[in-house]
Amino acid sequence: MSRGSDSRRRGHRASASGEDRHPAERAIRAVVTQPGQDASSREAVRARAHELGVRGWVRDSDDGTLAVHAEGPAAGVEALISFLRVPSAGAGTPEVTVEEVAIEGHEQFAVRGLSAGEFVVQEHVATAHHFDLRLQVGEVMRSWAVPKGPSLDPAVKRLAVQVEDHGLDHNAFEGRTERGGVLVWDRGYYEQGGRVPWPEALERGHAVFVLHGQKLHGGFALQRTRPGQKSQWLLLKRRDEEARPGSDVVAEQAESVLSGRTLEDVLGEHG
Ligand code: MN
Repeated sequence: MSRGSDSRRRGHRASASGEDRHPAERAIRAVVTQPGQDASSREAVRARAHELGVRGWVRDSDDGTLAVHAEGPAAGVEALISFLRVPSAGAGTPEVTVEEVAIEGHEQFAVRGLSAGEFVVQEHVATAHHFDLRLQVGEVMRSWAVPKGPSLDPAVKRLAVQVEDHGLDHNAFEGRTERGGVLVWDRGYYEQGGRVPWPEALERGHAVFVLHGQKLHGGFALQRTRPGQKSQWLLLKRRDEEARPGSDVVAEQAESVLSGRTLEDVLGEHG
C-alpha cells in the first residue's frame, strides 16, 4: 500500500505557470484511470480536497476515468495528487496524469455530473403567452417566466422574470386552465455548474447550470440584470458542444414532451 516514488512522477513543474496572481497557488487537471472506481471515489476526492482547502471539481467521464480540476495552495494541490495515486483495496495502483492549467477562481470543491434536482419548462397562456422555467431547490421549484422562451443560441439573451416558487407536484401539470392552458414543453434534471456553491449562486444573481432535458441540453446561465432589481434576470445558453447558433428551439420543437400535443391542441380541447 506504499506510494513509493509514485507521488514524484508528476510530468510538470509546480512553477510552470507564470501567470498566476498568487505565486503559491496552483491549478491542475488530473485524469485518474482505475478499474472498479465508483461514486464513492468521487466523494472521497471531494472530502479530501475539502480537508486540504483545495477548490475545483471531480466528475466521472464517459470512458470510466475520473476527471479532477484542483486549484488552491500548491502544497494542498500536491497532497491531493498524492491522494489520487493511493492504491485502493483490491483495485491496484491508479494511473494518474496531471496537467498544469490556469486558475479559474472556484469557490468550492464540487462533485459534477450529479443531479441537483428536477427542471421543467412549461409553456403557458394566461393573460400573455410565456414559458415558465422551473429549477428544483430543495422542496420547491424556483420559477422564472420567460416571455420568448429558452434558446440554444448563445448569442440570444432572453428576459426571465422571477415569479413565485411552485410545488414539485405542478411539474407534470398539462391542460386547460381558467384563463388559458399549460403544456409541459421540456422536462428532465439539472446539474449545478460554475464556481459558486448552489443555491448560493442564485442568491448572488449569477447561476450556471447544465440541463439534461429532452429538448434543452448543456450549460445555461441565469444572470440578474441589476442588483436592486431582484426579479429581473437574463437567461442565456453558454457556449458548449450543445449550443445551436441560429436555431429557434421554441419554434422548431413545439410539442409537449408528455403528450406530443401543442399548446393549440390543448387550448382547442373542450374542458
Ligand atoms: Mn406562467
